[in-house]
Amino acid sequence: MITEELFRADSYLKECEATVESINDKGGIVLDRSVFYPTGGGQPGDSGVLVRGDGTEIAIITTVKGDGDENVVHVPAEGSALPAPGDTVTARIDWDRRYKHMRMHTGLHLMCAVVPHGVTGGKIGADKSSLDFDIGDATLDKDAITEGINKLVADDHTVGARWITDEELDSNPDLVRTMSVSPPRGSGKVRLLDIPEVDLQPCGGTHLAQTGEVGRVRVSKIENKGKRNRRVNIVFDE
Ligand SMILES: [Zn+2]
Repeated sequence: MITEELFRADSYLKECEATVESINDKGGIVLDRSVFYPTGGGQPGDSGVLVRGDGTEIAIITTVKGDGDENVVHVPAEGSALPAPGDTVTARIDWDRRYKHMRMHTGLHLMCAVVPHGVTGGKIGADKSSLDFDIGDATLDKDAITEGINKLVADDHTVGARWITDEELDSNPDLVRTMSVSPPRGSGKVRLLDIPEVDLQPCGGTHLAQTGEVGRVRVSKIENKGKRNRRVNIVFDE
């Protein structure tokens, strides 16, 4: 069952009405549509609640991709009474947590624009996030990166998205830098995150509308991860 991913078109949706399609063999809840982002591309899956018609709530501790074509699986807290296929629910994410993920995720795109090296990995958290770079023989300056990111935050650039075909992506390999958030392929088109003149790359994650919403951040630590590799960590600085 392929769930309609409402968060891809509008990452600011906090809830939606949905119908329960199935309970999978691991006890995960599959809906026909959802605002819950499943763990992927270094970004944690959303937590929240599914509210039944009678007002009772099923706590969702995380969201993951399932087996086969299950793209969004809501994982209920242990011991939850599960809904039945056909039930309608209100699916509501923990917005405070998700919004921090969006701010961090968008902040990492800005880091990507500031640090001119290939990205080999990344991790997003509500309080701390990081990107790994293959810097070769270069060196990195903590304060310069902090300043560079905060300049792009203060300039309040518009964050957009556009779509290209798989063929266009294949003929522009430079687009894939990347935050290693490979957007889903196979549908024939790929979503690009587009912060004009700042960053352009395929990304299926949840972004802010403006870079100003990231708020001030600070490079807290640059870790050595081998001869050529560095992990650059950021935290909110407010
Ligand atoms: Zn992204």
